[in-house]
Amino acid sequence: MRLILLGAPGAGKGTQAEILSRELEIPTISTGNILRAAIKNGTKVGLEAKAFIEAGKLVPDAVIIGIIQERLSEPDCAKGYILDGVPRTIPQAEAMEEMGIAVDCALSIEVEDQVIVERMAGRRTCKDCSTTFHIVNNPPKAEGVCDNCGGELTIRKDDAPETVRARLETYHRETEPLKAFYEARGKLRTVDNQPSIEETTAAIRRALEI
Ligand code: AMP
Repeated sequence: MRLILLGAPGAGKGTQAEILSRELEIPTISTGNILRAAIKNGTKVGLEAKAFIEAGKLVPDAVIIGIIQERLSEPDCAKGYILDGVPRTIPQAEAMEEMGIAVDCALSIEVEDQVIVERMAGRRTCKDCSTTFHIVNNPPKAEGVCDNCGGELTIRKDDAPETVRARLETYHRETEPLKAFYEARGKLRTVDNQPSIEETTAAIRRALEI
């Protein structure tokens, strides 16, 4: 299964990717997580990306294409992968096609903007392993502590409400056109946001017929 998850920031792509990744035993590739790790480690890519991310803007396509080319050539991607947050622009999708990166399905999780803004206010992210939680919908077992690795849970800088609004605008302008791109290739499936994480996973399973 080579799957792309589409959807606005905060639509639940990361959460669903983690669940599907465990079930299907294939890696999730999140460019957001790769970029945050690069910033933390002070690499050249991290330095290039930092200002864009903090302003809620997209990192230039060339940087992303380089990251994805390198990551997908690693052996753990041979059986399949889940792409979380990439491609995010038509040029990225075209570049992936040109590189021969195969995709079976692009699945879009549809959530209204207002729901996203409310949801992002409660999101907490592990500073060590990037697992995400929500203070109401998906709370950690112990407040402020990651269930997965024991790391400290923090509020991502780009989850601040004004930045979320900028990211939503960017999503509608740059990323949403990818739905038509994959629809034209017969690869698009959509699911509507459900009241719980489990129900959204169930809707995704039905859409993917898995
Ligand atoms: P995410 O964790 O997927 O929400 O990504 C966080 C931020 O990283 C985004 O708001 C962008 O600034 C940047 N980013 C992640 N993936 C991409 C991508 N495919 N193209 C451009 N920028 C990206």
